[in-house]
Amino acid sequence: MVLRQRYLARNGNGRVIETPRQMFKRIAADVARAERRYPDKTRLPRAAMRFYEMMASLDFLPNSPTLMNAGRPLQQLSACFVLPVEDSLSEILESVRNQALIHQSGGGTGFSFSRLRPQDDFVASTSGVASGPLSFMRIFNLTTDVIKQGGMRRGANMGVLRVDHPDILDFIALKTNPHEMTNFNLSVGLTDAFMEARRRNERYPLLNPRTGRPVGRIPARTVFDRLVAAAWTSGEPGVLYLDTINRANPVAHLGAIEATNPCGEQPLLPYESCTLGSINVARYLLRQHGRTEIDYSRLAETIPLAVRFLDDVLDRNRYPLPEIEAATLRTRKIGLGIMGFADLLIALDIPYDTEEALRTASRLMAFVQSHAHDASRRLAEERGPFPGYEGSRFARRRDPRRHATVTTIAPTGTISILAGCTPGIEPLYAVQTVRTIMDGTRLVTLHPAFRRMARAAGLDVSRLLPHLNESPSIRHHFGVPPHLRRLFVTAHDVDPAHHVRMQAIFQHYSDSGVSKTVNLPNAATTAQVADAFLLAYRLGCKGLTVFRTGSRAQQVLSCAVTQ
Ligand code: UDP
Repeated sequence: MVLRQRYLARNGNGRVIETPRQMFKRIAADVARAERRYPDKTRLPRAAMRFYEMMASLDFLPNSPTLMNAGRPLQQLSACFVLPVEDSLSEILESVRNQALIHQSGGGTGFSFSRLRPQDDFVASTSGVASGPLSFMRIFNLTTDVIKQGGMRRGANMGVLRVDHPDILDFIALKTNPHEMTNFNLSVGLTDAFMEARRRNERYPLLNPRTGRPVGRIPARTVFDRLVAAAWTSGEPGVLYLDTINRANPVAHLGAIEATNPCGEQPLLPYESCTLGSINVARYLLRQHGRTEIDYSRLAETIPLAVRFLDDVLDRNRYPLPEIEAATLRTRKIGLGIMGFADLLIALDIPYDTEEALRTASRLMAFVQSHAHDASRRLAEERGPFPGYEGSRFARRRDPRRHATVTTIAPTGTISILAGCTPGIEPLYAVQTVRTIMDGTRLVTLHPAFRRMARAAGLDVSRLLPHLNESPSIRHHFGVPPHLRRLFVTAHDVDPAHHVRMQAIFQHYSDSGVSKTVNLPNAATTAQVADAFLLAYRLGCKGLTVFRTGSRAQQVLSCAVTQ
C-alpha cells in the first residue's frame, strides 16, 4: 500500500501506471546507465539485471527518493542534504529557497544555525537589533509546512546549534512547546570542551559568532541539566558530539562538519548530499545441520553490488543546485547500511538485549564495513578516487577510495515497510504494531515470526491478539511461553544502556553516523537520560536521540491500541 501510494509512477491523471516489478526495472535500468560512462572493460556485465534482482528480491533497497525519482523527470535520488546558513539576511533567505527546492524533490535538509548572531545583537545596516537564530528557524519550519516532498511526503529537517552559542538555553527549551518547530529535529552541538567543563563542574564561555568574542560564562551543568530535562519532557533536542564527528572526518582539508541530515546519520559538509541504501540482513540466513546462521558468503556478493549501485546513483543523480552537485561529486559520499537487524536476531534465536546480540552486531557490521571498503577501493582502481582524495586521510595512508564515506545506519522508515522487515538496527517496537502514515492510513501488523512460533507452540493467536493491544511489551504476558517472551523483546524492555551500547557498536563500524533511538519507559528518570548522553559520548557515538514513551503527542509508530 505504501508502495502504491507513494512510489509507483502515475500518469497525468494521477492513475498508477506501473507494477512493483516495473518500478524496480525502471530504477535498475536508469541507474545501470551510469556504467556506460566508464571504459568498456570496466563495465559490470548485466548491470541492470543484477540491480533489478537485488531490489526485487528485497535484499537491498535504495532510499525513497531513488525509488520515487529514478528514470522519471525529476531524477533527484538523494535523501540527505546539508545547507549552510550564513549570517546575513540575503544568505539566510537564499538558504530557505534552497531548502524549498530540495524538499520539493524529496530530500531532507540539515542546517547549523550556529553562525547566526544572537538575539539582541547589533545589526549595522539598520542600527537595530538582531532577532536571533530561533526566529529565522521558524521561517525554515514554515516553508516545510507549505512544500510537500515531490508531492509525496512532508520534508524533514535537522537544526543544530552549538552549545557555546549565546541563545542555547532558548534553543534547548524550544520544542518543549509541542507546537514549535514541528518539521524539525533539533540537536545541540556538544564539544569536548563543554563535556570537560561539565565533568569538572565549571563554567564555559558563550561566544558571539559575529565577533568571535565571549559574551558571558555559564555553568556547564546548568546547560546540561536543562538539555536533559527537555529531552526527558519531549524527546528533543538530541545531541551531536561535534568533535567526535570531526575526528572521524576523512576530508578535514575540505572543511569542518557542523550539521547532519534530519535523522542524524549523515554528517555532511555544507552543500553535500548523500544517497543511502540498505541491505535487508534478515534475508541472509543459512539453515544447515539444524542451525540457522548468517549467510556471509551471499552477503559478500551483495555488498559490492550495492556499493556499485550507489556509485552509479551518484552519476545518474540530477542535483537540485550546482553547489550541491559540485560538493557531492567532490567527496562522492554514499551510505550503505542494513535493516532487518532485529528480525535477523530473532531468526538466530538471540534476544536483542543480550551480550550475544552485541557480539553478533559487531561481527556483522565489521563484515559489512570491510567488504564495503574493499568495494570502494576496487572502484577507485577502475574509475578513479573521489576528486577531493588528495589531502584526505586516505591519501596519507595510500589507501585508494572511490568514496569519502561508504557505510551508515539509516532509519529506513519507509523502505523497511516495503521490505517487510524491522527498521535499521532497532529492536522490535512491539509484537503487534500500528503505523500511522502521512495521510492517516493505519497499518496493523503482527510480527510474522511471532505468529508462526506462537502457532507452533500451540497458542490460539486470534485469542491472543486483543491482549497484545494492551502493551507493547509481552515480557510479563503469562499467556505467552517464556521462550517467546524472552526472544520477542521490545524497545521498551531494552535497558537504555544496552540501546546505547548497540548504537556504539554499529558506530564503530560505520563511516558516517547511526540512526537509533534510545527508548525509555514513561517512568524513566532524568538521571537515566543524563547517563545515556554521557555513555554515548564515552563510547564514541556521534550523537544520541532519546525518546520516552508517551512524551510526545503523535508518534509515527505505536503499539496497537485499537484495531
Ligand atoms: N527523510 C526525509 N523525509 C522523511 C523521511 C526521511 O527527508 O519523511 C530523509 C532524511 O534525510 C533521513 C533520510 O531521508 O535521514 C533517510 O530516512 P529513511 O531511511 O527513513 O528513509 P526511507 O528511504 O526509508 O524513506
